Amino acid sequence: MAAPWEDVLRDKPAIREAASVAVDAALLQGVLMRTEGEPNASDVVNYAPFTLLPSAVPSTLFEQAYAVQQDFNLLVDAISQNKEFLEDTLASTIKVDDFTAQLFRIHMQVLEEGLAQSVFLGINRSDYMFDCGVDGTPALKQIEINTIAASFGGLTSRTAAVHGQVLKVLGKSKEASHLLPNNPSKGLALGIAKAWELYGSPSAVVMFLVEEVQRNIFDQRCVENELWNRNIRVIRRRFRDVFEKGSLDDAKRLYMDGQEVAVVYYREGYVPKNYDQQNWEARLLLERSRAVKCPDIATQLAGTKKVQQELSRPGTLERLLPGRAETVARIRATFAGLYSLDMGEEGDKIAAMAIADPDRFVLKPQREGGGNNLYGEELRQILEKIRDSPERTSYILMDKIKPQPALNYLLRAHSPLQASECISELGIFGVYVRQGKEMVMNRAAGHLLRTKAVEHADGGVAAGVAVLDTPYLV
Ligand code: ADP
Ligand code: MG
Repeated sequence: MAAPWEDVLRDKPAIREAASVAVDAALLQGVLMRTEGEPNASDVVNYAPFTLLPSAVPSTLFEQAYAVQQDFNLLVDAISQNKEFLEDTLASTIKVDDFTAQLFRIHMQVLEEGLAQSVFLGINRSDYMFDCGVDGTPALKQIEINTIAASFGGLTSRTAAVHGQVLKVLGKSKEASHLLPNNPSKGLALGIAKAWELYGSPSAVVMFLVEEVQRNIFDQRCVENELWNRNIRVIRRRFRDVFEKGSLDDAKRLYMDGQEVAVVYYREGYVPKNYDQQNWEARLLLERSRAVKCPDIATQLAGTKKVQQELSRPGTLERLLPGRAETVARIRATFAGLYSLDMGEEGDKIAAMAIADPDRFVLKPQREGGGNNLYGEELRQILEKIRDSPERTSYILMDKIKPQPALNYLLRAHSPLQASECISELGIFGVYVRQGKEMVMNRAAGHLLRTKAVEHADGGVAAGVAVLDTPYLV
């Protein structure tokens, strides 16, 4: 899996020169983030962290990840429409996890009232690592699928140009020409535009629901700009704004400041800290409306770790996707070992297995955004403490994926330039639109490669651990 620039990796003067070119190229290309000190102003901005060099990705696994994306779109959509499956699967979790329970309550309330929404838009990102088997052959293994606020589809479209220039500076023009073009934000916007069109009110707007702290605004602007280019109006609002100024009319049309909203695109609302009582009320209002929510609350629940674990049980995929044996086989091939910690004999055995050999596993709570999982000694201690308590059912257990590390340089503002052993995570963006029962769009929209130093077990780009990268297919 080695990349064809091993020769220059230890050439410090060449690397130093390439790094200064890389940072300026990133700024010029718009690989940008607001600063920690001023997260809500663009007066002073910085480059988003990225690797100096692209990372080698096996082309067969890259193609496999693209090939299974439409299958995952179908699966997520099927789960979101399967009330019984979500109810059964999340029954144990919602007894102990308040956040999932609250999402679930809104889901049930909206169903009881009757769905006003008839057009559905899914934007997800399925993330993978390349697990190194005993014989050294890498295999594509899914880490998770993100069904809400999957980010970096904008910034990632700009890294190939940066890495291309770096390779040229390092005398690798031929390799530079092999980097693939990639523009997920365009694909995401196509989906949003389709949903907006099917909603059928030309004067209605698309509302990006955004966080209070908006460091990653440039990533979102990439999608926004694609919509403006199609003459679709975009507004940005927070839950707080919805609470204060949002309303529904008799037909459950959603209005913000007097403007009808066709599509609500969430870049917020996936972790408990996004909500206070008022924000929950705002979420309920949005979910009850007939606006297209991306995602609707059922689709958000379809992306929970508990659902992921249940999908790996023999027979579950077949039940969710009847008559689609090939789809099921492609999906299942990407699954790592996943285990339920529900109360009972099966869960007892799993807990004991993990306590005996903690380095083989990852313990995951129902959280998103990085930095929540437990590994090694910490995993063992927590599991020992809660092994006999229902609290353990708020977690799932997963086999730890062990990719082959490779040398790279992680470029971060104000950080020294040093080589690190790194591992990468490949994400594929999926977009689909359903009108009633009919799928009218189902596609893969592009990719994201994130890379981190091996010493960090957990965490993404926003969490300050991983950095943006570009795949170099080998
Ligand atoms: P989150 O919703 O917080 O992003 P993830 O399941 O993606 O949760 O886990 C966060 C990070 O932890 C991943 O980006 C990856 O680096 C690491 N990780 C998660 N699951 C595994 C696994 N099974 N093996 C190895 N690393 C993992
Ligand atoms: Mg993740």
